[in-house]
Amino acid sequence: MFKQKINTEKINYKSIKPVFDNSKKRVYIETYGCQMNVNDSELVLSILQDNDYSLTKNIDEADLVLVNTCSIRENAEQRVWGRLDVFRLAKNKKPKLKIGVIGCMAERLKEQLLEREKIVDLIVGPDAYRSLPDLLRNVEAGQKDINVLLSREETYADICPVRMDENGVSAFVSIMRGCNNACAYCVVPYTRGAERSRNPETVVNEVQTLVDNGYKEITLLGQNVNSYLWKHKDNPDKNVNFAQLLEMVALVSSQMRVRFATSHPKDLSNGVLYTMAMYENICNCIHLPAQSGSTRMLELMNRKYTREHYLERIAKIREIIPDCSVTTDIIAGFCTETEDDHKQTLSLMTEAGYDFAYMFKYSERPNTKAARQLQDDVPDEIKTKRLNEIIELQNKLSLESNRKDIGKIFNVLIDGLSKRSDEHFSGRTSQNKTVVFPKGNYNTGDYANVRIISCTSATLIGEIEEAKKRETITELKNMIDETINIVEKKIKNTIKKEKKKK
Ligand code: SF4
Repeated sequence: MFKQKINTEKINYKSIKPVFDNSKKRVYIETYGCQMNVNDSELVLSILQDNDYSLTKNIDEADLVLVNTCSIRENAEQRVWGRLDVFRLAKNKKPKLKIGVIGCMAERLKEQLLEREKIVDLIVGPDAYRSLPDLLRNVEAGQKDINVLLSREETYADICPVRMDENGVSAFVSIMRGCNNACAYCVVPYTRGAERSRNPETVVNEVQTLVDNGYKEITLLGQNVNSYLWKHKDNPDKNVNFAQLLEMVALVSSQMRVRFATSHPKDLSNGVLYTMAMYENICNCIHLPAQSGSTRMLELMNRKYTREHYLERIAKIREIIPDCSVTTDIIAGFCTETEDDHKQTLSLMTEAGYDFAYMFKYSERPNTKAARQLQDDVPDEIKTKRLNEIIELQNKLSLESNRKDIGKIFNVLIDGLSKRSDEHFSGRTSQNKTVVFPKGNYNTGDYANVRIISCTSATLIGEIEEAKKRETITELKNMIDETINIVEKKIKNTIKKEKKKK
């Protein structure tokens, strides 16, 4: 197996938590969309903190509002338009407030966004965040500014994101940007540009910094992590692929859980599966978007794999990592989808036995291959009907999968209090299933062994195994004490009787 000497001398990272400093200008950041966007907002905050801004969570205090946007579905964009209406009110109250739109919607709409929404002062695409300080100088001087240039090199490798999460347990680490695939329905290649892999040494350094700051779980992020490839400038033998990067990251600390997203079925290699099986701290969970169970639809979607290939990958996961959970994405009602195609999706879901799925109705996105070449011809009520069938089936599969866990003991990383009770913690298993259990003497960020006692389709319910053991030992001790008392009494009585006889 791969071993590479890595220079782990750390980049001198600054504070990785937000700075709240009233003497600085204040930025309020709102984030929509995927984990990649969450991580990008953290990068943006890092750049701004170096340029005299600090974070505020109160929009009324802000000098600058940034909305990090998603274009993947139409309703994601609609939400942003709705928020811009709200920001207009804030700007009416405070005319000096500056408003910026960043991320995928900024990249997709470019100047059109400035034309359509007059309150917006700043537009920045996902590859142009380094230019934010310069753009902001112009904006503060009263101009509007825009940078939506895509890059073939930018990976922000040298910038350590400022973590905006509340619990300090889990963090995202971006390992690549962009995507070289051209799935017919997807805007990502247009909004995030071509694929670039980040220098592995900087990934390892960032993970080490997170370990040093008490984090317990990282998720390596990329649009298609399986095609990660860092090319050494002189020696191809020193190239690093995803399986190798995964191993390097797993070796940073055995106490740091490692996850990754998202995998592409055409690129998920056996090497990645064997690496997962080899390291206990690499979580047994793979998100493998199928999108459809019909080879005809997969071809139209330009996914570059067949139903058979997809199921072969699932079989390989089950063979190499038997207790691995598998989750997926499904699109209902893509162009020309027939009832038979839909039934094939349902049968694929049953065969794969997914633990969880993100399920959507197809939503046409402007300028994609599907929008240009295919007809969005499945009526909305059919899309809804099919989506409901997909959701109903997935609920059943999730419940079946969770029921199989009853009686098992899982090592659970505690995320924080359960949403429903302050007396219970919520945490996740290696398989990324949520477990709720009584708190015991544990804290957020601890690992606890939890025995599963019941479940719903969404949640496992458990009790701490150590507590259970303690209870059992106490019960046994009480039984023994009782037995000793009884025996002692009997002996005393016998002695008394014997004495009387004498
Ligand atoms: S793999 Fe396909 S769906 Fe995923 S980001 Fe790339 S083009 Fe979009």
